[in-house]
Amino acid sequence: MQRVSPLVASLLGVVLGVLATLLAVIATRTRPVADDPVATPVLPPMLVTTIEHLRGPAVVLGPHDEVLTESPAAASSGLVRGRRLAAEVLELVREARREHEPGVLNLNVPGGLGMPARKLAVRVAPLGEELVLMVADDRSEALRVDETRRDFVANVTHELKTPIGAVSLLAEAIAGAADDPDAVLHFTQRLSDEAARLNELVSQIIALSRLQSTDPLLAASPIDIAEVVDVVLDQARALADSRGITLTQHRSGAAFVRGDRDHIEAALRNLVQNAIAYSDAGARVTITTRLSSDTAGDWVEISVSDNGIGIAEADQPRIFERFFRVDYGRSRASGGTGLGLSIVKHIAAAHGGTVSLWSRLGQGSTFTLRLPAHHPDSDAEGTAA
Ligand code: ADP
Repeated sequence: MQRVSPLVASLLGVVLGVLATLLAVIATRTRPVADDPVATPVLPPMLVTTIEHLRGPAVVLGPHDEVLTESPAAASSGLVRGRRLAAEVLELVREARREHEPGVLNLNVPGGLGMPARKLAVRVAPLGEELVLMVADDRSEALRVDETRRDFVANVTHELKTPIGAVSLLAEAIAGAADDPDAVLHFTQRLSDEAARLNELVSQIIALSRLQSTDPLLAASPIDIAEVVDVVLDQARALADSRGITLTQHRSGAAFVRGDRDHIEAALRNLVQNAIAYSDAGARVTITTRLSSDTAGDWVEISVSDNGIGIAEADQPRIFERFFRVDYGRSRASGGTGLGLSIVKHIAAAHGGTVSLWSRLGQGSTFTLRLPAHHPDSDAEGTAA
C-alpha cells in the first residue's frame, strides 16, 4: 500500500474536518430514525449542496452503508456502484464504524471503457453514530508528474556524466602527451567539442526547466506567424547555405496566435534546425503556414517539411521523449541532445496546441505545430468591453 503525501493527507483532513463539524451541528436537525429502522435519514440541504460542490469523488453513507448523497465525480470514480460502495472501500467504512476512527486507503482503480486507470487516496470518517463520509483524491496525475521528474533527474545525471567523463579523460590524455604537439592538438580539439556539447546540454536543460516553470499564456500577446517564420528562416539561412540546403516557405492568408513569441520562435527554430541537420546536401526544407477549423475552433498549422533521412516507424512513437535520439551507429553523429523535440512538444502544449509528425525513412519528415488561431479583431472588442 502506498503512503499518502502529507499535503494531500492534510488537505483531505481539512475537508473532512469542515464536513464533520458541519455535520455535528446539523446532525441534531436530521430526522431521527431510531424508531423506524428502515427509514432513510434525510440529510440537511446544506450538506447535500456541500458534497455536490466537491470536485473529487465524495459520498455520505447511511446506517446500512447505502449512498445517501454523492458528488458528481463519484459516479465515474469506480468507487460507487449504484447505491453501494466498492467492496474494498466498504471494508474501510466498516472498520471506521467499529473503531470510531477515520481511515485511509490507497487504491488502484483499473481503467474501463474510455477511463484510464487511476490511483486514488480514499479517506473515510464516521459522522456521529450512523453516517459515514468518504472522500477520495485522484493522485494519478501528481504521481505521474513525480515519476517523470524522477526519470528526468536520472536522465540528466546520466547524460551529463558522459561528456564530463570525456573532459577529464581528455585532460589526462593532454597531460600525458605533453611532448607530442600533434596529439595535444588532436585532444584539445576533442576537448573543445565535448565542452561545446556540455554547454548545449546544460542550456537545453535550463531552457526546458524554465519553460516548465512558467505559463506562456500568463503574459500572452498576439503573434503574427509570418513575422516569426521570417525571423526563423533568416537565422537558419547561414547554416542551410553551408550544408547546400534550400529554405522555402508557403503561406496562405494572415495567421495569428496568442502566446509567448520567444517560445513559438524557439519551437520553430528547433524544427528547422532539425530539418537541416537530418537532411543531406541538396535537400529542401519548407515551412508552410495554413489555417484550419474543426469543432474545437480555428487553428494555425505551421509545418516544417524536409526530404531528408526520415524517421523509422519504430522510432516515431518515442521521438518527442526527452533525451531520445535515433541510434545511427557510426554512420551519422548527430551531436544533438535529444531535448529539442521535447521542448517543442512542451511549448505546443503550453499554448493549447499539439505537435505531430509524419515521416518515412529515406523520404523525409514533416513536423506540424498546431496552435489555436487568434483573431486580432477580438482584442479590440476585448479592450472596448
Ligand atoms: P536532437 O538534439 O538529437 O536533434 P531532438 O529532440 O530535436 O534532439 O530530436 C530527437 C531525434 O529525432 C533526433 O536525434 C533525430 O534522430 C530525430 N529527428 C528529429 N528531427 C528530425 C528530422 N527532421 N528528420 C529526421 N530525424 C529527425
